[in-house]
Amino acid sequence: MKLYEKTAAELSDMLRAKECSAVELCKDIIERTNAVEDKVGACVTRCEDALQKAEAVDKAFAEGKELHPLAGIPIGIKDNISTKGIRTTCASKMLENYVPPYNATVMNKVESANMIVTGKLNMDEFAMGSSTETSYIKKTHNPHNLDCVPGGSSGGSAACVAAGEAIVSLGSDTGGSIRQPSALCGTVGLKPTYGSVSRYGLVAFASSLDQIGPIGKSVKDVSMLYDLICGHDKMDATSAYREYPGTFVGLNNDVKGLCIGVPKEYFGEGIDSYVKESVFNAIKLLESNGAIVKEISLPSTEYAVNTYYIIASAEASSNLARFDGVKYGFRAKEYDGLIDMYQKTRSEGFGDEVKRRIMLGTFVLSSGFYDAYYKKAKLVQRKIAQEFSQAFKECDVIITPTYPTPAFKIGENIDDPLKMYSGDICTVTVNIAGLPAISVPCGKTESGLPLGMQMIGAKFAEQTILNTAYAYETLCGGFSCIPDTL
Ligand code: GLN
Repeated sequence: MKLYEKTAAELSDMLRAKECSAVELCKDIIERTNAVEDKVGACVTRCEDALQKAEAVDKAFAEGKELHPLAGIPIGIKDNISTKGIRTTCASKMLENYVPPYNATVMNKVESANMIVTGKLNMDEFAMGSSTETSYIKKTHNPHNLDCVPGGSSGGSAACVAAGEAIVSLGSDTGGSIRQPSALCGTVGLKPTYGSVSRYGLVAFASSLDQIGPIGKSVKDVSMLYDLICGHDKMDATSAYREYPGTFVGLNNDVKGLCIGVPKEYFGEGIDSYVKESVFNAIKLLESNGAIVKEISLPSTEYAVNTYYIIASAEASSNLARFDGVKYGFRAKEYDGLIDMYQKTRSEGFGDEVKRRIMLGTFVLSSGFYDAYYKKAKLVQRKIAQEFSQAFKECDVIITPTYPTPAFKIGENIDDPLKMYSGDICTVTVNIAGLPAISVPCGKTESGLPLGMQMIGAKFAEQTILNTAYAYETLCGGFSCIPDTL
């Protein structure tokens, strides 16, 4: 087995047992990236100083220093997370040459743990999309089938782990963008409870829904990385002030007596039969090992996609007002006065999907339509959150598919925004209610495309969903996300 095929937990032990060095690991990742990146296209920017950082880790190990368990582990970062001195494009022409003067809080944590940042990863422009096709920079291909999308918007983050171009990665999730690409690429992805990971330095899409989270090959890896990045941050006013005892030490794969809620609304029409079957099989496996399965109902699910697209677009239209050609990045070359400069800059700098969201958001916030759309969406949001709270009185975990279908072909849905939006049905409810959820692989189609299952927990119940995911992973004998065909 090559080093790039191993998990962070395995590599962490190997580094300590001197079975490999951080430099060897980093070289292996660089070689692998050189070999597959042209086909996969996960990276926007590669970090040239990775090897130097790995040397420093080996030196620290040699000096007998106590290092964080993730020290020396190669990590890729979604390109909407601010990295001091490294271009952060949000896959937009607007920020194509923007180099942040500061780090996101998660980046300070990644650096203080001596992880090795290998590159900044492709995504849908400003994280708007489900296929990474709205990127201005390039297309990303699914490592399991290069004709297919990797999912989105953190498509580069999932594809890079599944291609062996990094061991773990960070993504962001506003309506499913960590879980959906994880499902489509066969990786494990965690969307943490709103407020548990600092958003300081994450370029805002919809501030009340956005969360940064980890992607990896295994539940242990995701748990380790979550433990590193979570925690209160005074730089983020929405950061939750509480104790974070660490999920890795608490990992437990015993599901005896665990109550799993299965909401019937997530298994209806539109969910592919392969997906349904594989999720049901996984639930049965957990049941036969002692879990209790209960059918539940979350009736407002049918309004979730509409609610999400109203709230997310409203916030996006406000957040993206800052890109005006004055403060950041791109400015149109020719213009006639200030207003014309704004117009030309924004017309040329944003892609079609971003413009669509800004227009939709401005519309639902306009005085004539605010009550009919935005206010109503906020009421439905409360209803969705209440139904989840009620459900968590009866069960510990809710299991659903992550995405209605396996990865689709590049180009297949890009001209049909409503079809693309409707695919978000299983994931957006979680962001609307501010809950944590994890996507784990639960099988493959006949042609070898991965399928994903979502486990949703009550607020701050990361440990419960990680334990359930860990139990399932153990029962399956582990996951493997790197295809032999690549
Ligand atoms: N697919 C959803 C959207 O396009 C979710 C994106 C995300 O989570 N960033 O809005």
